[in-house]
Amino acid sequence: MKLLSDYCLTELYEILADFPKFRAKQVFDAIIQAKDYADSNLPKDMVDKLKSEYILKPIEILKVLTSKDGTKKYLLKLYDNNIVECVFLTQDYGNTICMSTQVGCRMGCKFCASTLNGRVRDLTAGEMLSTIAVVNADNGKRTERNFSNIVLMGSGEPFDNYENVVKWLELITAEQGFNVSERNISLSTCGLVDKIYDFAKLNFNITLCISLHATTDEKRKEIMPIANRYSIAEIVKALKAYIKENKRRVVFEYCLIKGVNDSEEDINRLKEITKGLLSHVNVICLNPNGGSLKATTKQEALDFVNKLNKVGVSATLRRSQGSDIEGACGMLRAKTLKEKE
Ligand code: SAH
Repeated sequence: MKLLSDYCLTELYEILADFPKFRAKQVFDAIIQAKDYADSNLPKDMVDKLKSEYILKPIEILKVLTSKDGTKKYLLKLYDNNIVECVFLTQDYGNTICMSTQVGCRMGCKFCASTLNGRVRDLTAGEMLSTIAVVNADNGKRTERNFSNIVLMGSGEPFDNYENVVKWLELITAEQGFNVSERNISLSTCGLVDKIYDFAKLNFNITLCISLHATTDEKRKEIMPIANRYSIAEIVKALKAYIKENKRRVVFEYCLIKGVNDSEEDINRLKEITKGLLSHVNVICLNPNGGSLKATTKQEALDFVNKLNKVGVSATLRRSQGSDIEGACGMLRAKTLKEKE
């Protein structure tokens, strides 16, 4: 069986060539409004024909946790019963959806709960679109867009699911669909250098974020296995190529871990790494996931940011939302899987 949500409108025109053209748009609308065949208003003969080959079914909401600050964390059930997370963040400048790109993750970063049980499978482009659709429908009128930004910072490594993510970008930005502006999409990667070069050529106007989290390769290898494959220097070189093509500022994510990456030397090395690079450093307070890594205090994180600013590095502390509801990457899914054992 195939998912109708995996196709763009042009492809739907071809698949539905036997039917009047407006039916393809109706199918596309049904996907975006998180409807199934029964709710879609499609004629019975068409549904009967499609049903044998294609699935039109919204992703199921298993559980919603609402934080004191309004952040909502969703546990979603895919068609094969796999579970992914998605977060809806309400902000003054518009709502943001934080989305997963894989079931689990195989990158093995020490601080991240998404990777605890490894990678189960990739999400298809349609599943990612349907994730947005179901969370959108749950936060207002399903016929309207109730968010403005999307960040690919949930579970999974977007560049480890490259083709589906690129296809999803086409689907989510489609004018006849959610019509999300590329500028309102951020993609976070742990730094798969080859893919950064490939992606640069596609010229998407999205914000590319790099999970840096350490300022030397040695230290980075301790917390992020991907550092054994690509050095920080190689990442920076790839980012230069990316900026040359896209003229877009890149963002370094830097999760502060007490005694690991929060020293004065780290500040100086961050200055060197970002020298001459159109970039911003997003400092994040670690959300401890039960391992040995400890968080700094908020004040220590603010001091770190101030020191970066003093030496001329553009940096801010990311506002932490939803920490009372297992807000960070993969935490809720990991907890749910554990409860099931
Ligand atoms: N695989 C991609 C995207 C997912 S992780 C990547 O590595 O960038 C996206 C971000 O989630 C990480 O950069 C980190 O900033 C944040 N994150 C993950 N686990 C966290 C934790 N325990 N505390 C705080 N932030 C965390």
